[in-house]
Amino acid sequence: MTEETLTQQEVDTSFSLFDQIEQKEHEQIIVCSEPKVGLRAIIAIHNTALGPALGGTRMWTYKSDKEALRDVLRLSRGMTYKAAVAGLNLGGGKAVIIGDPQKDKTEALFRAYGRFIEGLAGRYITAEDVGTSIPDMEWVRMETKYVTGISRALGGSGDPSSVTALGVYMGMKACAKKQFGSDSLKNKKVSIQGAGHVSAYLAEMLAKEGAKIYISDIFQDKVTKIIEKTGAIGVDPDNIYDLDVDIYSPCALGGTLNSDTIPKLKASIVAGSANNQLDTEEIHGQMLIDKGIMYAPDYVINAGGLINVANELEGYNSSRAHEQASRIYDVILDILDHAENRGIPTYVASNELAEHRLHQIGRIK
Ligand code: NAD
Repeated sequence: MTEETLTQQEVDTSFSLFDQIEQKEHEQIIVCSEPKVGLRAIIAIHNTALGPALGGTRMWTYKSDKEALRDVLRLSRGMTYKAAVAGLNLGGGKAVIIGDPQKDKTEALFRAYGRFIEGLAGRYITAEDVGTSIPDMEWVRMETKYVTGISRALGGSGDPSSVTALGVYMGMKACAKKQFGSDSLKNKKVSIQGAGHVSAYLAEMLAKEGAKIYISDIFQDKVTKIIEKTGAIGVDPDNIYDLDVDIYSPCALGGTLNSDTIPKLKASIVAGSANNQLDTEEIHGQMLIDKGIMYAPDYVINAGGLINVANELEGYNSSRAHEQASRIYDVILDILDHAENRGIPTYVASNELAEHRLHQIGRIK
């Protein structure tokens, strides 16, 4: 093909795949295509210094390949840090399937995808994520053993929410110890945003300890269920930020710590399960510090889900998974101490501790 026959897009030198990969030090990108079954997927292996790269498969209607690539690069890097700080012998990876999870799921698609994972011979281990579910992973499992998050019936770990909730609860107690001088949550006022899977378990643990719980959801029936079980007080979703509480626990969506909500917060601790809680890390991490609010980094306190699926690799054992998730207490305390000693935000402290472990224990690249 001559230069003249190339389209404008083909001669566009502003986008370099290798620049993208090298920017955040990814090891490998695998582009998976099987047109016959409509499979278009990208697997990103960020770092295998501590062990095989484990991370879920997201299925989403990405508007462009570039958008899908950007997402998988960002998410896989996050998994390296999450596994490292959780003390797991796992690396970071993630995958995206380009497609509509409501319309495009077939056995053929997930099995074709499973064969690509099998081809990586264990360098990447997958799990469910946004847009994928346990039945999808069971199709993947028909082609490869490098998949976690399958049902209990098939020897897997099933729903991770109780383990995630335990990690959040223990992380919250660690914050209380540092902020209030005692890790008891008795009579502490805790507001929870979201009345989903994690919140249901979390509210039970808090109620058992005698905390006063306020809970909101956009679906009233979910709130009612938790109120009936725990005696929590239901709150209108718009009012959750204004409550006069000790601890705010975001367990719904990402980005809820932002320039609109932080000025309203009266809590002195933020500790919840949602991913990507800080709308912009630098700006909103600093806003929390300026208000004297202690922030438990999201990817550390919600690592119970990852700990749960990681347990499948050694033969799933629920009590071991819960035991490991309760160690999030110590991890959060370490991070809070490190942040205090170095005068840095907690999300920076957790990144530093993850990097320290990668360099100390991992094979340095
Ligand atoms: P879920 O879908 O069961 O619950 C989320 C709840 O938030 C839903 O009930 C939803 O209606 C509610 N919600 C949405 N928007 C809201 C709003 N504006 N105000 C109040 N409520 C709102 O999800 P989950 O499994 O409980 O997970 C909760 C969060 O924790 C998610 O962000 C998830 O990514 C994260 N997380 C979950 C796990 C896990 O093991 N389930 C692990 C790690 C991270």
